[in-house]
Amino acid sequence: MKVLLVFAHPEPRSLNGALRDVAIHELEAQGHEVRVSDLYAEGWKSEVDRADFPSQPPDERLIAVAASKAAFDTGTLTEDVRAEIEKLLWADVLILQFPLWWFGMPAILKGWVDRVFAYGFAYGVGEHSDRRWGDRYGEGTLAGKRAMLIVTAGGWEEHYAARGVNGPIDDLLFPINHGILYYPGYEVLPPFVAYRVDRLAEAGFEAVAERLRERMRTLATTPPIPYRRQNGGDYLIPSMQLRPGLGDPGTSGFGLHADEVATGI
Ligand SMILES: Cc1cc2nc3c(=O)[nH]c(=O)nc-3n(C[C@H](O)[C@H](O)[C@H](O)COP(=O)(O)OP(=O)(O)OC[C@H]3O[C@@H](n4cnc5c(N)ncnc54)[C@H](O)[C@@H]3O)c2cc1C
Repeated sequence: MKVLLVFAHPEPRSLNGALRDVAIHELEAQGHEVRVSDLYAEGWKSEVDRADFPSQPPDERLIAVAASKAAFDTGTLTEDVRAEIEKLLWADVLILQFPLWWFGMPAILKGWVDRVFAYGFAYGVGEHSDRRWGDRYGEGTLAGKRAMLIVTAGGWEEHYAARGVNGPIDDLLFPINHGILYYPGYEVLPPFVAYRVDRLAEAGFEAVAERLRERMRTLATTPPIPYRRQNGGDYLIPSMQLRPGLGDPGTSGFGLHADEVATGI
């Protein structure tokens, strides 16, 4: 398979840098082809602004959604963004790797998403009618490909458990897994998370590295998170609410959008 790893850490000699090398080594050992977008090393511009839309008249009010659509449609997105889109189309698997910073991804990676996931490419795709609400959540430009997160966290695993004070890790990562990756069509694999990493010793590192190697070995076979497809019949259109009777009546929030029962998880 072809794998794109988007790496968001400022220091190559970090734990994240070491884990990235472990992942790449294992993927290549398995015969996969790997490309890396190293956002800090490449000086990735993280903010969306007027410079992203050079064909827009300078005195015209900037409406980011409309400007993104026009630039995508006319092939005038900036070269750095077009290069990332080309890599996404090339890759069978997308891996986003980052340290958890304030319960989310570092700003540089959020900025990569904001700029690269353009209108017409990652959103605003497909028919919007009384039967369909666009090609999204399981359908879209990136359908048929897989994606997963590699995340390191200072907090303990228990702190991110169902009753942990930080909130469950699956909830914290839901906006990325469901909102960013599933939205344009990726099948999203369960995340790889390394907890309590700030005082990791050599033995601890080897255990984490081995767990990561195993995930890289099983990239093609790991079952994805069973998110419900938007246009698969589970949702009312146009309200986009889960149909009455679906999901555990005691469940609300993010948990409703994965069909754990159907898959027996
Ligand atoms: C702005 C900010 C916000 C944060 N917010 C959160 C948050 O919301 N939730 C949370 O849980 N945590 C949070 N943290 C902690 C953060 O998630 C961790 O600091 C980060 O995940 C550690 O990853 P790193 O690659 O930077 O590790 P490093 O600092 O590079 O390394 C961590 C440990 O691993 C060891 N190590 C590194 N490389 C190797 C190697 N090759 N072999 C063996 N050992 C190695 C180091 O010696 C060190 O002990 C935050 C940190 C910052 C700076």
